[in-house]
Order: sequence, then structure tokens, then C-alpha cells
Amino acid sequence: LPAPAPRQTPVRAMTIAGSDSGGGAGIQADMRTMAMCGVHGCVAVTAVTVQNSLGVSGFSAIDPAVVADQMRSVVSDIGISAAKTGMLASSAIIESVAATASELGIGRDTPIPLVVDPVSASMHGDKLLADDAMDALRSVLIPKATVVTPNLDEVRLITGIDVTDDTSQRAAAEKLHAMGAQWAVVKGGHLRSSDQSVDLLYNGDVFHSFPYPRIDTGDDHGAGDTLAAAITCALAHGRSVPEAVEFAKGWVSRCLEWAYPLGAGHGPVNPLW
Ligand code: PLP
Repeated sequence: LPAPAPRQTPVRAMTIAGSDSGGGAGIQADMRTMAMCGVHGCVAVTAVTVQNSLGVSGFSAIDPAVVADQMRSVVSDIGISAAKTGMLASSAIIESVAATASELGIGRDTPIPLVVDPVSASMHGDKLLADDAMDALRSVLIPKATVVTPNLDEVRLITGIDVTDDTSQRAAAEKLHAMGAQWAVVKGGHLRSSDQSVDLLYNGDVFHSFPYPRIDTGDDHGAGDTLAAAITCALAHGRSVPEAVEFAKGWVSRCLEWAYPLGAGHGPVNPLW
């Protein structure tokens, strides 16, 4: 993606997401990817997690009205050409983000595309979204998504479909599209049976398949955030959704190759310094 010239105002995008004190995932991963992709990243913080390489030991959610005000403040002055959501913590925050996105003209069928990464738990299984928030995700946020990017655990929680092969992966993409997402990316990275990681993209019309060799590393903290952030960056630069997903898959593959150990647990993907 093109880098801005010196003193030129870059393309802007906003992440609406949680902070990772360990610096591996969440806002910290999004901001690094945005910087490396020539995008000025703005932030609406939704939650502050207490986290290191071993997992998330707690979090404090931000007042939903303050999340909305961060979004309004950024859009009214700085302006953005794409946005993404990550950890949203509660149904109250999901409802606030969805309503504010409508108010500000962010989401599918608007000039500002919205990438919804339906974060529900960390790789260690720590909950990042309240159990009762799944309904709000399905009914108010997914219908606003230009692109929704669940992994297979999130697919099961959202659609009830257990993806085990190509056929069920397609069925999951169709269901996410039927819920109102313009495009659904069903990430195959958690399908441990395959030596490839195949992501499937669907918009109600055509399926696009993105096969990449599986990269074997335990240091993959923040990979999902990084994929969604890279899609957001490519959209902010004016790329189409299939082009953005193609770019983001290549980006995350390289980030996984460069991932490094950190602490005693899982290290983060490296955003390619
Ligand atoms: N912490 C925050 C704030 C996140 O947004 C996410 C993922 O989206 C995670 C942790 C979990 O990342 P991982 O699944 O790589 O552990």
C-alpha cells in the first residue's frame, strides 16, 4: 500500500477496540499495522485488558457513551475512510457502536466501510465478550458490516455451525451473509486438519478462496486483529474487498513468519519492522 509523502496527511482509519497491556493484540496490534500500511490510526477504546503473554486476567469496560464520543470526536475533525471493530466487551457497547456508526455514516452501503472482527475470546480461552452480547452482535452490528471476519470458534458462537470442511465453511459464509454482512470472511486458520490455512470470502454471489501454507508457530498472538486491521487499511486506501482480503492474507502470513517469542506464553505476530 502506498506510503504518504513527508508532511502529507495520510489516509485515516479508526479502530474501535480493546487495549492489550502486553502490546501484542487489540489496539496495539491495529495501530502498528496501520502505521506500517501508511494509515494514520485513530482509536475508540472499548476496554482495558490486564494481559500478558500468558493470558487475560481481567478487564475494565469503558462507558458506552464515552466509546460513542470518541467515535464522534474523530469523525467530526480528523475524518476517516474506514473503521474496524475488535473487542467490544458488552452488549451495551455493541449497541452504542452500532448506533453511532449509523449516525456518522459508517458501515456497509456508506462511503466509510466497517470491518467487524467479532472477537469473543483470547487464544487462551479468556472471555472478551459477555455471553449475553451474542444477540446484539448478530442483530445490530453484523448487519452494518462491510466485512465480518470470524474465526471458527466465533463462527460456531454466531451461526451455530461447526465448520469441519469446505461444505460447512461455505454454509457458515452464507449464513453470515444472510445475517446482513455485505461480505463474510470465514477464516480457516483454526481448521487443524489442513496443512493449509484457507479463508473463504462470500458476498451472496461469488465465493473467493484464499489458500496459504499454514505457518507453524506458537507465537501468533494478535493474528486475527492484524488480519482485520490490514483489511481495514487496504479499504481505507480505496481497494475493493477481495483485493483487501488478498492483501491482508499476504500481510498476516509474513507477520507470522516474523513472529517472535515474548514472555513465558505466546509471543505476538510481528507487523514487519
Ligand atoms: N486482547 C485484546 C484486547 C484483543 O482484541 C484480542 C483479540 O482480538 C485478544 C486479546 C486476543 O488475541 P489472541 O486471540 O491472539 O490471544
